[in-house]
Amino acid sequence: MGGNIGQKRLTRAFGMPVGDDQNSLTAGERGPVLLQDLHLLEKLGHFDRERIPERVVHAKGAGAGGYFEVTADVTEFTKAKFLSEIGKRTEVFVRFSTVGGEKGSADSERDPRGFAVKFYTEEGNYDMVGNNTPVFFIRDPMKFPDFIHTQKRNPATNLKDPDMFWDFLSLTPESIHQVTILFSDRGIPATYRHMNGYSSHTYKWQNGNGEHFWVQYHFKTDQGIKNLTREEAEVIRGRDPDHATRDLYSAIDGGDHPSWTLEMQIMTPDQAKDYRFDILDITKVWPHADIPPIKIGKLVLDRNPVNYYAEVEQAAFSPSNLVPGIAASPDKMLQARLFSYHDTHLHRLGSNYHLIPVNAPKNSPEHSYQRDGFMRTDSNQGGGPNYWPNSFGKPGPDISAKEPPFEVTGNADHHPYTHLNDDFVQPGNLYRDVMTEGDRKNLVGNIVNHLGNAQKRIQLRQTALFYKADPDYGLRVAKGLGLETREVERLASLSQEDRVKATS
Ligand code: NDP
Repeated sequence: MGGNIGQKRLTRAFGMPVGDDQNSLTAGERGPVLLQDLHLLEKLGHFDRERIPERVVHAKGAGAGGYFEVTADVTEFTKAKFLSEIGKRTEVFVRFSTVGGEKGSADSERDPRGFAVKFYTEEGNYDMVGNNTPVFFIRDPMKFPDFIHTQKRNPATNLKDPDMFWDFLSLTPESIHQVTILFSDRGIPATYRHMNGYSSHTYKWQNGNGEHFWVQYHFKTDQGIKNLTREEAEVIRGRDPDHATRDLYSAIDGGDHPSWTLEMQIMTPDQAKDYRFDILDITKVWPHADIPPIKIGKLVLDRNPVNYYAEVEQAAFSPSNLVPGIAASPDKMLQARLFSYHDTHLHRLGSNYHLIPVNAPKNSPEHSYQRDGFMRTDSNQGGGPNYWPNSFGKPGPDISAKEPPFEVTGNADHHPYTHLNDDFVQPGNLYRDVMTEGDRKNLVGNIVNHLGNAQKRIQLRQTALFYKADPDYGLRVAKGLGLETREVERLASLSQEDRVKATS
């Protein structure tokens, strides 16, 4: 245990010394316990309230502090001050996590990993809230709560349910790219240190001339990619469910500081205009050959949290924490996350969660007109005016922080995506051109092992999607599952609507 608390006197919460912490105050030797044991009442009352709501997603996590250092001049692309000079360092706090499991679940589950970075910049906190995969399962936020429900527990049995899992994915063909990555070896990173982090979303960078660029972030692990096979993960899950949490803490504790190189893909508006994929579609990557990633910085983790609850459990990241020079794109999933993360923290941590030290802006103090609320633990902006405009000395807006105007066109409607055939191109490329034969073998084995637990009609519907990404991919999964290959081929030739009818 850390600290030197052994030297101090035990007190109650309000500082009064405690006389006895082992024997409750009782009437006579055998009790009953008296209501006037004030220390006991306080101790139990606090214990009863120790838990805050678990995060609905990303509940199990590990975190560490460190710094980000700029290694290339990016001032032509962004005016963000923390990126303004080569060699400039900014303090960061990072949280890694699994997504679907509860707070006590195993680190070695097949699941995407969260990769959230908080930069304490001189213009306020900037959060890059990404994952270890460059794409996502869905691209419209309307589907998000349903999708997450299918990855959690069956409402009747309270068990993970392969039918729910694959029913939804097979009814949502845009998931095929992420499903292919999830069931590849990258679906179970060996540790948090041995995986990349991606923004997945497209963001907008703006320079000092009011020009903008579309960007995607890639934090590439300097430790090298390492994954666990399904069999290795099963063993580790039994031996040490917290292995990745332990690995991160032990490495930093032993002076082995993990680092990531930040590479950016940067696209001009002209390049984006007629690009062959929708650059805002989070189920797609930007091929490296078209938009080569540029190295711009280094992220280093060199400090373990002093207290897990204070720094990791209460760490609150939000894609809406943006600083001048970095803005949201119209990516529909991102737009919903701008709302949902902050909303979740308000529920989970309270209306003043920005005062919790790990979340507080360390290098740009708050000067706002928000006041009061539960746990307003600071001076509540003192005696300054609580309205704007005022003629009592501000604070007032700074026009240079304003995002330049951008064009928006079209009719308001519930617009679906229109380029549905593209969904199979990139997973096909991944399967054919990027994976080795060993990778493909493991991918098919992992799918068969999991999908094999779903109903046959769902197996057929999903396998037809693998076939559409690449016939060899679909046929190998079909063979592994013992499905009739001609039926898979037939289903793959149908429209999604007819395929669903044929398998419902
Ligand atoms: P490239 O050959 O230039 O890039 C392929 C990238 O795939 C690699 O750089 C690596 O990304 C990643 N990769 C390597 N092995 C695996 C694996 N077993 N599982 C998942 N990803 C792997 O081709 P493209 O840029 O044209 O992309 C081809 C396909 O690669 C994409 O459709 C996508 O599925 C996948 N991919 C592409 C990324 C991108 O941003 N372009 C990023 C990650 C995957 P990294 O260097 O980031 O580790």
